[in-house]
Amino acid sequence: MKLMFKTKKIERRIYLDWAAAAPVLPVAAQAASHITEEFFGNPSSIHQEGRLAKERLEAARSLLADCLAAERSEVYFTSSATEANQIVLASALAKFLSSPRQSKRPRIIISEIEHASLWEATMALKRFGFEIMTLRPGADGIVGLERLGDLLNEETVLVGLMLVNNETGAIQPIADCAQLIKDFSHTSGRKIHFHCDAVQAFGRLYLSFAELGVDSLAVSAHKLGGLRGAGALILKKRVHLLPLFRGGGQESGLRSGTENLASIVAFSEAACLRLKNLESSLAKAHFLMQELVTKLMKISDVYLIPQARAEAKADLFSPYILTVATPPIPGEVLQRHLDEAGIAVSTGSACRTNKSQKNRVLEAMGLEAQLAGSAIRLSIGPETTNEELDIFLEVLTDLLPYLKKIS
Ligand code: PLP
Repeated sequence: MKLMFKTKKIERRIYLDWAAAAPVLPVAAQAASHITEEFFGNPSSIHQEGRLAKERLEAARSLLADCLAAERSEVYFTSSATEANQIVLASALAKFLSSPRQSKRPRIIISEIEHASLWEATMALKRFGFEIMTLRPGADGIVGLERLGDLLNEETVLVGLMLVNNETGAIQPIADCAQLIKDFSHTSGRKIHFHCDAVQAFGRLYLSFAELGVDSLAVSAHKLGGLRGAGALILKKRVHLLPLFRGGGQESGLRSGTENLASIVAFSEAACLRLKNLESSLAKAHFLMQELVTKLMKISDVYLIPQARAEAKADLFSPYILTVATPPIPGEVLQRHLDEAGIAVSTGSACRTNKSQKNRVLEAMGLEAQLAGSAIRLSIGPETTNEELDIFLEVLTDLLPYLKKIS
């Protein structure tokens, strides 16, 4: 559809949708191309070509493990974070189905703000007899420890929580939850697997698998400048999961299927570069986000979501993600006009595109449907500039009165 409003002419497109996919870093593109041309062997083959490919695979594993403060043997490559999340859930199902008949239903606890890849897969387990309990966040988008404590019981087998919410940027208290779960496990004598989706944290915030205290972590390449087609499950030593795919036994039997070596090596190179510059990137992102928030608050009828974002301490929200609402303008309408003007933003998770208009995450935070429906997500990256954000603000200020009139 052709849009009618003409606003400031933008020379070069402005990309504010890094949480959906980050531009590929040159170091990652070069690594992928080099591997594709030079290391075509199958890492499982025992001839020289295979051995050379295997060496690159293991070097990438070591590099990624270092980036996450994990051990090399704790890194299992997958095709995506979606797959890493599924492995954990599929394992819970496989263990349940293979155990002797139980009278009680196993319980899984997740939050209501999880990404679709964890949410949908968990909900699908209901029909196999799992009891799914959900944690509602507060109005600030952060899940509370008390409710988690209330939901843990002797039947609990798995808790799945994200570290950084992909729509609001809210940082969840994962280390505290891990301690709570550990204490419960200790007193009840029941082992509970604690899985964390760290997709929006890895490469942007400090992240140490060793310190977080979780049993497993899902990460993805294309969110930090790697290529699509690579992700990883970081799994604590001595924690045993059953595989989602069976076959050639790659990835220590947990993930059969020939490894996507080019994307995996590119992933480790991109992660390494992001980690090297993490401190300066983070300081810059905090500065840019603070400026953006301050300037957005001066535009009438623009609401920060959650409102707490305006004065929140820096460690409660990722400085790379911000959601704002401009009621009564539907988020999708604003997104299309911004796109036409040369600016890419999203109306929430890219994985929700083409689905119903309902925003599960924002509504779980208690937002009215109209406010939630008018939300757009702005997500920045280490290469975003203040100038780009100022142009976005200028275009937004131009567009809002016009869109309000026609809404
Ligand atoms: N988890 C979160 C929090 C995400 O933001 C995303 C992607 O948007 C995913 C999981 C899925 O990642 P992938 O695209 O690697 O499957």
